[in-house]
Amino acid sequence: MESKILFLGTGASDWLIEKRLPGMYFRRYTAALFDDDLLIDCGPHIFDYIEKNKCEDLLSNVDTILVTHRHEDHFDPATLRRLAESRVIKLVCDDRTFALVKDIKNVVQVKLPLFEKAKVGKYEIIALPANHDVYGLDNDARHYIIITPDGKELYYGLDGSGFEPSEWECLKQHRCDVLVFDCTIGHTKDERILQHNNVAMLRQMAEDVKSEGVLKTDGKIIASHFSRKLMPSHPNTKLMLKVYGIIAAYDGFELKF
Ligand SMILES: [Zn+2]
Ligand SMILES: [Zn+2]
Repeated sequence: MESKILFLGTGASDWLIEKRLPGMYFRRYTAALFDDDLLIDCGPHIFDYIEKNKCEDLLSNVDTILVTHRHEDHFDPATLRRLAESRVIKLVCDDRTFALVKDIKNVVQVKLPLFEKAKVGKYEIIALPANHDVYGLDNDARHYIIITPDGKELYYGLDGSGFEPSEWECLKQHRCDVLVFDCTIGHTKDERILQHNNVAMLRQMAEDVKSEGVLKTDGKIIASHFSRKLMPSHPNTKLMLKVYGIIAAYDGFELKF
């Protein structure tokens, strides 16, 4: 069966929606819908995507949300509350994220072990540690490998800087159809380099996943989580990454595989 990932947002946290002007190119905070029923992150811009694209039923089959981490661009309790009004949601998250859910009805926490396949609905999901600081506490951010019932594999690596060493060891055991990488800081050595990728790092990661066979020969690498200030326009970002065989995501971009 064909799988698909739809990008509902592709911007880093400096894309402030209150500063959006009519006609201006815009990226919402990163979130993605996988195969109609699995949402990756639920930040505050998700319903703006639905309203602007007039697709009210887009999330009607979602029963599971994977939370990468609780930074405000990725996790918004009000958005979760709205999603959980009409159905029970399995929320894959850590305890600190779940503490923010507090009184929201219809939300069931699912805690995943690291590095092990865990059954979540029809998927097998592997949680991996991400090299991304969350308010200076334990290494709370997660990346995920999603395995479909017919064996397709998607790696979702936002937010993060390179690969955390044990993450890479686990990832090397996999053959992915699609890998999604962080590309926040353009060509800069911005201080966020310890939390996010620049283009040179992304290029190296793309080479590594190819040489180690982590990316299937017909697999795709997609970049997302672009900074408004540090990345060029979308057409230039697209051209810049194409040289390295990487697809630049945009809001509304869908890949079937
Ligand atoms: Zn972020
Ligand atoms: Zn973050």
